[in-house]
Amino acid sequence: MQSDLIDANNSGPKGWRSFAAHLFAPIKITWGQFFDLLVPMRHSAHIRRHAASVIISRIQLVAAIFAVMVPLWSVIDWFVFPWPQWAMMTALRLGSGIVFLLLAWPWDITKTRLQADSMLMALLLVPPVFYLISIRVTEDLQVTGVALLVTKLYALMPNIVLAGLAIFPLTAFEVALFSAPAFVFAVLGLLMGGQTLSMDIHGPMFWLMVLVMGVAMFSGMSQLHYITALVNRAMIDPLTGAYTRRSGGEALDLQFRLSAMRNTPLAIAFFDLDKFKSINDTYGHEEGDKALRALADNLRQGLRRGDVLVRWGGEEFVAILTDTNTDGARILMERLRATGFGPRPDGAPMTASIGVAERLADGAADWPRLIELADQRMYEAKRAGRDRAVLPEGQTLVFGDKPIF
Ligand code: GH3
Ligand code: MG
Ligand code: MG
Repeated sequence: MQSDLIDANNSGPKGWRSFAAHLFAPIKITWGQFFDLLVPMRHSAHIRRHAASVIISRIQLVAAIFAVMVPLWSVIDWFVFPWPQWAMMTALRLGSGIVFLLLAWPWDITKTRLQADSMLMALLLVPPVFYLISIRVTEDLQVTGVALLVTKLYALMPNIVLAGLAIFPLTAFEVALFSAPAFVFAVLGLLMGGQTLSMDIHGPMFWLMVLVMGVAMFSGMSQLHYITALVNRAMIDPLTGAYTRRSGGEALDLQFRLSAMRNTPLAIAFFDLDKFKSINDTYGHEEGDKALRALADNLRQGLRRGDVLVRWGGEEFVAILTDTNTDGARILMERLRATGFGPRPDGAPMTASIGVAERLADGAADWPRLIELADQRMYEAKRAGRDRAVLPEGQTLVFGDKPIF
């Protein structure tokens, strides 16, 4: 794991190493993490959620400023453009102002990534659309002096959009994607530019746009890296890499609400290792920790993408099994037991007592009730002889055919 880190003491191209060390200092970054700054495909749900809420609150701030500034600029249009152009520009400004106001409005929304992306796209589309319409409005004018200056300022709009992207925690791929409309509109602007825009004068702007986009990528990636590092530090248990109880509770709360909304099943499995204390007592705490790490690795391998592993307490884990009914949970428990929970220091297989609860089968009204039921069933499994899973409706899965202890 350590050799995976990009820092001055490790292998990898030397130039790249010092570049990465400067860009992401003081938090070290692994190659896998760097890949996640390029493309968003592997981001975990909690990183997506945190990034989405940062993106939405920044959109709202920027939109609130624009909602005031853009209509206010009409005063300048009023001085530099004749009738009816200034009236058309004012209407355009009021229209943009309304869109910005809608974006800035503190709607009661759940702040999903889809909402963040849609709002960002809307925010980014207003200036270029404004820009294209303003070209149409002013194209028949013989603009000189201040009016010419103002019209040329509008031609900088695509650049302003690209620079604005720098305030959002985005991957390089997302910055490129969200930049695309600005490039398209800049080309369209040149094609229909009439007398105020020309390739001679505005052609070099494309070079500037590429540079600004590069800076926005830099900024977006390093912001995303900080968010990821801080969120992970706060949410992930350093020993096992599982979610902490607090962040696991948040994840469970979200999954419970989603499953109730979509009317899909949601199962949880509560694991408590059998006779774990004896590992500590016989072999020491270090060996106990090693066994816990091995257990978490095994559980993660057995679970599916989208399932969430939480370290609920010392040697107690909760797996949140999304979209899984009791039958699905039983198959998963059998599979986990077949893969095993890792060895005890003496080589014997580690075993666990497991309680499973499911939202629909148990008619649970909230997620604490699911935990309570799963916890009770885990104790039932202990009482009945350990190394087994107790499921809803009194079903029991006995794993070992003879007792291990
Ligand atoms: P059983 O559950 O089968 O009844 O027996 P047990 O021995 O596992 O009993 P219990 O679940 O009550 O024991 C929990 C033990 O887990 C107590 C503590 O020594 C150990 N433990 C908890 N957290 C850690 C940890 O972070 N590292 C290590 N090494 N041990 C821990
Ligand atoms: Mg315990
Ligand atoms: Mg135990």
